[in-house]
Amino acid sequence: MCPRPMCPRHVLILGGTTEARALAAALTERPGVRVTTSLAGRVSRPGAVPGEVRVGGFGGAQGLADWMRTERVGFLVDATHPFAESITANAARAARETGVPMTVLRRPGWRPAPGDRWHDVASLDEAAALLPSLGHRVFLTTGRLGLAAFAHLTDLSFLVRSVDPPEPPMPPRTEVLLARGPFTVDDESSLLRRHRVDVLVTKDSGGDATSAKLTAARRLALPVVVVRRPSLPDAVDSVPDVAAVLERLGLGT
Ligand code: NAP
Repeated sequence: MCPRPMCPRHVLILGGTTEARALAAALTERPGVRVTTSLAGRVSRPGAVPGEVRVGGFGGAQGLADWMRTERVGFLVDATHPFAESITANAARAARETGVPMTVLRRPGWRPAPGDRWHDVASLDEAAALLPSLGHRVFLTTGRLGLAAFAHLTDLSFLVRSVDPPEPPMPPRTEVLLARGPFTVDDESSLLRRHRVDVLVTKDSGGDATSAKLTAARRLALPVVVVRRPSLPDAVDSVPDVAAVLERLGLGT
C-alpha cells in the first residue's frame, strides 16, 4: 500500500537519461508505488533500469494520453534529455488532456568558467555556420542523429563520438569513436591532443557525465561551440534533480 494519502500509485517516467534511471531506482524503493520507465528505443543496449520498462514511441501526444489512461498513471515525470523537444511537448499536451500532474526533471545547463572560450549558438545549423571561422579539426559530440547539419563542411575533419554508429549523411572527412560516458578530464585532454582537435562542438546537455571535455578544452585553450537548449513548453513545472521530484510526489525525506 502507498504510505501517504497523496501518493500516486503509478509514476510514468519518460527516460533515456542518467537522472531518469536514478529516479526509477529511488521510486522502486518506495512501497506502494508502481514505476514504469519509457525509453524511445534509440540505443541498442540501454543500461539496466529498475522497475518496469516499456520501449518505443506512443504515437504522439494522443497515444501517450491513451496509454496513461489505460495504465492509470497518477504522475508523469519527463526526465528525457534537454534536447528531446518533441517528447516533452507531447508530454505537456498529454498531461493537460488527462489532468495528470507532470514535472520535468531537467538537470541544470552548463555555465562557462574563467578561461573558457565558448560561442553560444541556437542550433546545429548555426554551429555549422560558425565552425570554419574557428578551426579545422573538430571534435563533434552533439549525437549521431545531428550529423547531417555538418555534412556540407567538406574542408574540415571531424572526430565524432557517439554510443551507436552514426549513419549518413555526415561530413566526408569523419572519424567515428564509439564510446559511452562518463569520461575523465585526463582522458578527454589526451583524446583532444592525440587527434589534434582545434575546436569542440557540444550541446548544453548539463550534468557531470560528459562535462570533462569542457574542462579539457579550457586546459588546452580551445574554442567550444555550445548549442543552447530549446525552451520548455509554457507553464510546465520543472525541477533540477531527483530529490525535488520526490518532494513533488510527497515522498521527500
Ligand atoms: P524527440 O525528438 O523528442 O522524440 C521523437 C519521438 O520519439 C517522440 O515523439 C516519441 O515518439 C519518441 N520518444 C522520445 N523519447 C521517448 C521516450 N522516453 N519514451 C517513448 N517514446 C519516446 O527525442 P530524441 O531527441 O529523438 O531522443 C530520443 C530519446 O533519447 C529521448 O528519450 C531522450 O531522453 C534520449 N536522448 C536524447 C538525446 C538528444 O540529444 N536528443 C541525448 C541523449 C538521450 P511518439 O511521438 O511516437 O511517442
